[in-house]
Amino acid sequence: MVPPWFLPRFLIRFLPGSSLSYLGILLEFSRSTFPLPAVVATDGVRGMMESALTARDRVGVQDFVLLENYTSEAAFIENLRKRFKENLIYTYISSVLVSVNPYKDLEIYSKNHMQRYRGVNFYEVSPHIYAVSDNSYRSMRTERKDQCILISGESGAGKTEASKKILQYYAITCPASEKVQTIKDRLLQSNPVLEAFGNAKTLRNDNSSRFGKYMDVQFDFKGAPVGGHIINYLLEKSRVVHQNNGERNFHIFYQLMEGGEEDLLRRLGLERNPQQYQYLVKGNCPKVSSINDRNDWKQVRKALTVIGFNDDEVEELLNIIASVLHLGNVQYGGDEGGSAYITSDTQIKYLARLLGLMSPLNMEQASSARDALSKAVYGRTFTWLVNKINLHLVNKSRYYNITEQEEYEAEGITWEPVQYFNNKIICDLVEEKFKGIVSILDEECLRPGDASDITFLEKLEDTVGGHPHFVTHKLADAKTRKLVSREEFRLLHYAGDVNYNVNGFLDKNNDLLFRNMKEVMVMSENQILTQCFDREELTDKKRPDTAATQFKSSLAKLMEILMSKEPSYVRCIKPNDSKQAGRFDEVLIRHQVKYLGLMENLRVRRAGFAYRRPYPIFLQRYKSLCPSTWPNWEGKLSEGVSTLVKHLGYKPEEYKMGRSKIFIRFPKTLFATEDALET
Ligand code: ATP
Ligand code: MG
Repeated sequence: MVPPWFLPRFLIRFLPGSSLSYLGILLEFSRSTFPLPAVVATDGVRGMMESALTARDRVGVQDFVLLENYTSEAAFIENLRKRFKENLIYTYISSVLVSVNPYKDLEIYSKNHMQRYRGVNFYEVSPHIYAVSDNSYRSMRTERKDQCILISGESGAGKTEASKKILQYYAITCPASEKVQTIKDRLLQSNPVLEAFGNAKTLRNDNSSRFGKYMDVQFDFKGAPVGGHIINYLLEKSRVVHQNNGERNFHIFYQLMEGGEEDLLRRLGLERNPQQYQYLVKGNCPKVSSINDRNDWKQVRKALTVIGFNDDEVEELLNIIASVLHLGNVQYGGDEGGSAYITSDTQIKYLARLLGLMSPLNMEQASSARDALSKAVYGRTFTWLVNKINLHLVNKSRYYNITEQEEYEAEGITWEPVQYFNNKIICDLVEEKFKGIVSILDEECLRPGDASDITFLEKLEDTVGGHPHFVTHKLADAKTRKLVSREEFRLLHYAGDVNYNVNGFLDKNNDLLFRNMKEVMVMSENQILTQCFDREELTDKKRPDTAATQFKSSLAKLMEILMSKEPSYVRCIKPNDSKQAGRFDEVLIRHQVKYLGLMENLRVRRAGFAYRRPYPIFLQRYKSLCPSTWPNWEGKLSEGVSTLVKHLGYKPEEYKMGRSKIFIRFPKTLFATEDALET
């Protein structure tokens, strides 16, 4: 079981190389498990000044750094509200982009809009996801540095949409040859395919990503995309066999059923009615008004071809999807000796080989073995799909790394450390190698005998019961006890307290398959399944990692990648829980402002050097303000900038000179310089 605060979120990253470079889509984590950088660059001046001086009362400021009362959460939210009412969904905190989901189509994503952001500095245009996209792309190219864009926010806040907009921006604005066009198409088309197999309707989001994704896009020296690579994290496999009321299984099942051609469905032995299938009826929600399964099917089918799947592969893939549905309909009866046998004849035709292996099990075991098999088949097929897409995107290259902090060090700049939100205490409680919640869960899963969800809870009480952020019914004081049931533990997070019901924790974490089922899968005639179930697995005595452990190690790898890149941030906010346009629910938004750490972020930006500019850009823009630098400065660029700012009267405490950039502490210093340009 992966604790919900660990659910991955989208991230896009760029990995430039010496001759080739990359862009990636990855996953971020909803609770901020890694800190925001202490200081991040911004270039916002003119746009800020306009909003600061003119339309400010009506539309708020377009950079929170300009808020007079910048420590006030109420002022922050009021600014968001003003802008949201005007359909201005984007606002900066310095260079961090805050985005509020409009829940309606805005006319701000056309090709014309894209062109407006090409090669333009932040301050010259209004805040936009395209500005962040362009800025990162340009940094990657001109400064030859690894870049990443991290997109975070809760379910339904708009992360996936943001990541798609970024990809679209590159697809349209980056140079293209014929070969490049193919890669662009494949990259774009990987989205509908992965969403079909990995997204589902939940109560919170009709198109909720139920897996984590990391995508590199590789650029050549001309800045054209020439390859890509995707890594998938932890698909929510339990959804294959169970959905909560009002939720659905993965989109692909309904797409196939609604859109699949008659003869295809006949070959797969499927009826065109989701209500026929046990794995599709549990959520009681076969149709969703915002989703057109039939059209989506057409798009996905076409996308598979564009990516490079041939007809046989598609047929085998769909065969697996159909088999999972058939498997779900396998019913058991019990014989006199208590063994389970299969009662549903129709399924036998499709699942003949599975029959024998289920007979020695009792009924309960047989059902959970069946579900475990369905989950394993679906989960592995998903991974196969991702790997296959990768084969069609592949292009080799090297890249090098730099982190933000190292950059400051490289620039010879010192700053005062600022205390920012740190989730470490909770992460340790969950992750700690020997006594954290995850390892206790693994231990219980591996313990033979009477291990159950409740013994797991008791073990937690014994082991981490003393932790100041951990409470259970038994451990709670009289006041809190009412808030925690006997089946729950409660973690006191930074942004609020969350209860976790232990029901099903062991099962979900276990996810282990009976060996004889694996044997059958290895022998399958389906080419995909034989690739998914490796013969070597059967000879390997080692117990496979549990879900939580697997996730922990992929998390560690992810952290490593993130820590080595220059990040840009997009913070997505969900305005209401009813998916409605125009509704601004202040309580919900305040909560997100808290857990996204936006106030800390703003404080940090105001405390550090608010702006940094590479010398050539700074000099180019302001050289007309000083006779020594106009019309051209012939000497070293840093000396030119130094001469220029001294002439302008910058005081020593207002700026610092780095190796390649000037760092300016206060917005007003730059405002004054901008003013001077105007006069
Ligand atoms: P999850 O964590 O569940 O995957 P998410 O953050 O990825 O959620 P999205 O799927 O990106 O959320 O967004 C949910 C829905 O909100 C979209 O399907 C779309 O209807 C709407 N939406 C999000 N961003 C925008 C936008 N910029 N413009 C218009 N609608 C949007
Ligand atoms: Mg999503």
